[in-house]
Amino acid sequence: MRDKLQILFDGIRYTESLGRAAEHAFPNYYPYRFKSGEPNPTGGDTATIPYLMSLEDGTLVRVRGDGASSWEVKGSAGAGYRLTDESGERRAEPVSFEPLPGWMNRTTSDGWPMSRAGIDLHGDMAVINVAPGCEYFGERRDGGSMRCTFCAYGAPGERARHFGQARGLAELPDTTLQRLQETLTAVLEEAPPRHIYLVGGSMLDWALEGRRFIELARKVQEINRHRVPVACGSGALPSESLTELHGDGLVDAVCFNLEVWSEPLFAKIAPGKNHFVGYRRWIDSLEQAVRLWGPGRVYSAMVAGIELEPDYGLSTDEAAELALEGAADLCDRGVLPIYSLYFPVGAAGNLWHLSELRAYFEALAVGYRALRMARGLSIWDGFMCHRCAYMQVECDLDRTVA
Ligand code: SF4
Repeated sequence: MRDKLQILFDGIRYTESLGRAAEHAFPNYYPYRFKSGEPNPTGGDTATIPYLMSLEDGTLVRVRGDGASSWEVKGSAGAGYRLTDESGERRAEPVSFEPLPGWMNRTTSDGWPMSRAGIDLHGDMAVINVAPGCEYFGERRDGGSMRCTFCAYGAPGERARHFGQARGLAELPDTTLQRLQETLTAVLEEAPPRHIYLVGGSMLDWALEGRRFIELARKVQEINRHRVPVACGSGALPSESLTELHGDGLVDAVCFNLEVWSEPLFAKIAPGKNHFVGYRRWIDSLEQAVRLWGPGRVYSAMVAGIELEPDYGLSTDEAAELALEGAADLCDRGVLPIYSLYFPVGAAGNLWHLSELRAYFEALAVGYRALRMARGLSIWDGFMCHRCAYMQVECDLDRTVA
């Protein structure tokens, strides 16, 4: 777990081996940006690098390029890659990169690239997102935007348009769903994932959002013949939607992201969720999900570390204490929070912020593991495991004590 944290925080600097690995690996969404004065064998300002790397024991970690890091990758596809630390404190550890799957170069029967059909792979998890546009973008109340403060990925735009997603409309075009089904069939045939995760942008009307996810889950289950576990990663949903999702056996787990603990922080950080659903209703929805699916099948992703932004006035200790209070409360309701490291743009250059963020994240990870152990809880491996959790450490910690 320490290596993973270290790599997440330090990043990895560019080497020719890392660049060559990108030729056969799943590409990173963020290109490597060379710092001025950094050795640059490419001649360009940026370079493509792999997205995800597996350590020798199977631990998955995101690759973040950083020219100031002492971590570097050497070797080749033929001879094998090794991660090493130029300080010489570590031995060179064999690593591998998440490969670019064959289906990503294929097309659907109507000639559409499968790589643009709405499926991403995070290790052994297939993430389905055919409605990425979030309706909180573009909504304003009292002069403020309704989108979550940290969110850069939900803006409706070209990405949403090519899926035919329309504002205020739950239904997606048949062509979108047909392409999704064909692509998912190819994914399942090539190398079946161990988890399927349905996500999408939020809708202003949670009942409509429920309808969208029910339809999506039905389409996925039509071709999910080996019953790979499916999780619904929508916003909180009303009672009728939950009853249908559960009663018709459409999903095996749910994850409604509260993002932060405490109503005042929720209102500031996730104003759209607070305005259109509400903190209390969000928690009620999670609790109802526990009554249906049972404890251990209901999750809530949290943005770990956003509380340290100066706007919220919390010290590192106060932020960790508040997050752990939330973890204990949610666990006692049968809901398991999952903490994803919040790595703000520009943090890499702010050493003070990085060290506070690291202290917070370690205190939270260790404290939360103790809470799970005291209650006999662990993350259900049908929902998530160490082979797909690339920015989270719960599954890594759970397996060290299993
Ligand atoms: S609900 Fe928040 S985090 Fe999710 S897409 Fe919308 S703005 Fe982004």
